[in-house]
Amino acid sequence: MGLGTHKRTALVTGAAGFVGSHLVDRLLAEGFEVVGMDNLMTGDLTNLAGAGRDPHFHFHMGDVREPLNAYAELVFNFACPASPVHYQSDPYATLTTSVLGALRLVEMARGRRCTVVHASTSEVYGDPNVHPQPESYWGNVNPIGERACYDEGKRCAETLLSDARRDWGLDARLLRIFNTYGPRMAFNDGRVVSNFIVQALQNKPLTIFGEGAQTRSFCFVDDLVEGALRVSRLEKLDGPVNLGNPGEFTIAELAALVIELTGSKSTIENHPMPADDPRQRRPDISRAQALFDFEPKIDLRAGLQKTIEDFRERLSDRSP
Ligand code: UDP
Repeated sequence: MGLGTHKRTALVTGAAGFVGSHLVDRLLAEGFEVVGMDNLMTGDLTNLAGAGRDPHFHFHMGDVREPLNAYAELVFNFACPASPVHYQSDPYATLTTSVLGALRLVEMARGRRCTVVHASTSEVYGDPNVHPQPESYWGNVNPIGERACYDEGKRCAETLLSDARRDWGLDARLLRIFNTYGPRMAFNDGRVVSNFIVQALQNKPLTIFGEGAQTRSFCFVDDLVEGALRVSRLEKLDGPVNLGNPGEFTIAELAALVIELTGSKSTIENHPMPADDPRQRRPDISRAQALFDFEPKIDLRAGLQKTIEDFRERLSDRSP
């Protein structure tokens, strides 16, 4: 292949995960050569079924905590369990995946021409006292609580990548990703959208934690991937940027919408509120709007319809 036809290579860590696999598909559609890496801690190879048929996709079974012997000029670091149920089931693995994963990327990218787009999270804001959350807010996180392995792991990764940027000029770009949902979420992911859809499709009670008055802002995965791509195309990005959909809903409103859209006979069942569960969350996306015209296009109703359709198909494939 001549230099003129050289394809850009992107490395996606966490490629078999929900968001990672959508990112892989989008990068392939954009004409990248894509290396996808995953240790399958929470990822699932069926998410890469389509990508696997593309000769420009290469899967590498590997763990971001180990030294990386691959190099790519563009890296999307999306490797980390992200649902509270999963990240709390092995807190040591969660924290080390965030921190050592970022460290390995710094070691790989230092001194080279490499852009690292890193998946951080709205969890860095903890249970926020400022609403909606702008990037300038430092957060309200319990450092020794049950969510800390994720929240503090992600905060530390931000620290590491910011220091590498300051000291060594590493081109690290921090995405603070708010709740994201869509096709391919694992049935047992444990998050509210996947739980409610599975429960509704099976006419089982929807499990609302607490009274359901806590809020979240749900972003459809295609909008999130578009934002991540736009960040990678920027000349540069200083400081973190929020990515999410600012539409804010209570968990009780979400439950009612899922019941309506599935036509389910499900009832509601209230369960105890988990520890340190944020009471409210909504991204201030003015920075993303100003820097790269970020504007989520798919509202909750439309996004849930697409997601329910996907869950319905996958659940019917599973039935005997
Ligand atoms: N939640 C719920 N029922 C469930 C799962 C979650 O009411 O079956 C609540 C949870 O307590 C939280 C919100 O929904 O307030 C979002 O939870 P999720 O695990 O999806 O993500 P988080 O934003 O907490 O990381």
